[in-house]
Amino acid sequence: MRGYVFFEEDRCKGCQLCVPVCPKGVISMSDRINALGYHPAEAASPQDCTGCGLCARICPDTAIRVYRETRRRAEAG
Ligand code: SF4
Ligand code: SF4
Repeated sequence: MRGYVFFEEDRCKGCQLCVPVCPKGVISMSDRINALGYHPAEAASPQDCTGCGLCARICPDTAIRVYRETRRRAEAG
């Protein structure tokens, strides 16, 4: 399953809750400073995201959006 994870960097408070919760180790903390003055989370290896949604569920600041790729069922006939 292929997923896509996006961070709204300027909402992130740098709590790091999303880092260990990712089963694929996709997330790490950036060296940058965001608008709130924190080091925001980022997708270090976005190609490994499965779209499980755990990171978005745990984020207290709703800074993460996750999309999951779906396949259209082939038309019969
Ligand atoms: S959706 Fe799942 S696999 Fe993707 S970054 Fe979040 S926790 Fe990791
Ligand atoms: S859980 Fe949310 S607020 Fe905390 S580091 Fe991750 S993205 Fe930032």
